[in-house]
Amino acid sequence: MNRKAAGRVASGHPWIFSSDVVDRGDATPGDAVRVVDQGGRLLGTAHYSSISLITLRMLSRRAQAVDNAFLLDRLQAAEDHRRLVVQGTGAYRVAFGEADQLPGLVVDRYGDCLVMQTLDQGMDRQSAAIVECLVEMFAPRLIVARNDVAVRSREGLPLETRVVYGQVPEDIRVMMNGLRLQVDLMGGQKTGIFLDQRENYLAAARWARGKALDCFTCTGGFALHMAAQCETVEAVDSSAAALQTARTNAEANGISNVHLLEANAFDLLAGHAAAGRRFQTIVLDPPAFAKSRSAVDGALRGYREINLRGLKLLEPGGILVTCSCSHHVAEAMLLEAVAQASLDANRTVRVLERRTQALDHPILLTVPETHYLKCLVLQVV
Ligand code: SAH
Repeated sequence: MNRKAAGRVASGHPWIFSSDVVDRGDATPGDAVRVVDQGGRLLGTAHYSSISLITLRMLSRRAQAVDNAFLLDRLQAAEDHRRLVVQGTGAYRVAFGEADQLPGLVVDRYGDCLVMQTLDQGMDRQSAAIVECLVEMFAPRLIVARNDVAVRSREGLPLETRVVYGQVPEDIRVMMNGLRLQVDLMGGQKTGIFLDQRENYLAAARWARGKALDCFTCTGGFALHMAAQCETVEAVDSSAAALQTARTNAEANGISNVHLLEANAFDLLAGHAAAGRRFQTIVLDPPAFAKSRSAVDGALRGYREINLRGLKLLEPGGILVTCSCSHHVAEAMLLEAVAQASLDANRTVRVLERRTQALDHPILLTVPETHYLKCLVLQVV
């Protein structure tokens, strides 16, 4: 590969793009290959993708066999880190791709059930070995391959959800922060539980009070966590299926002050403003507005607009918990968009906390894509 790619590897980033690969040799799709620069110097070992724009994903800075022992070692290191950083739950991310030096592989644990995603040709070819490692490490009851994610089509891989080990139990429930939550491993959006928000749920619960509004509640993550501190929580989502799970979760935890509402959050916020409704706490956790770099400007307008609508509904002293899970939107950009919204709303806003994804979704300093979730806790002064 060329000098640009060599520089990229030296800067600590694992991706090498197709335009920087000079000679593919006789590599076949999904091979673990030796990577050398134009002078023939070894740069390490990578998984090769035959059609993706990301042709190589570095696995190691040495020449190494990528076999069961290699995968087990990396997975065990990832799990060891979780033993240090995960508390109060049986549901967490065991492996987070590039951030655990396992590019293309995501593994989530829900008690004795596991979900894996193989997102490039290399990891996909290793599926059977990965399953063996996971069985050895966790002796699980079930492993599901949730490979129904769009990025796989860029690798020429089929979109599918498959049981790869064990059998699907009737009902899967896990504890998180003292709540019993239902998990839909086969059908839920991202399994219905947002593991990356786990620590932010607790933060929101610490600040929440009075009448609360949780927009984009999905299966009720923020709403259920805040319920004990609040008079009432209105929890809104456009997905009836997600709200059904939220209802089951509320009942399972004896929570009766969360009111679930199927609606478009943008319209609902405008309607509440027109009706003069006010809240003490508002959570905004929309889906990623920017799925690509070219969508960033539009996304920032979206964040500004929704935060403006939220801020208008808050009473003085009110709390706004506002999130963005687009990695293309850096924290500074989100802060700027919300600052503009606060000016538009004629509100002075104080920053209480600047938060990110839970610690089981590690962030690598030299791989900016691993830092994707921003969660700001703000207060109207
Ligand atoms: N806060 C949730 C996760 C939100 S994911 C949690 O912590 O569990 C984003 C959610 O936004 C999805 O559930 C999706 O159904 C919902 N959604 C997308 N567009 C919407 C809209 N215009 N109005 C309301 N909900 C919407």
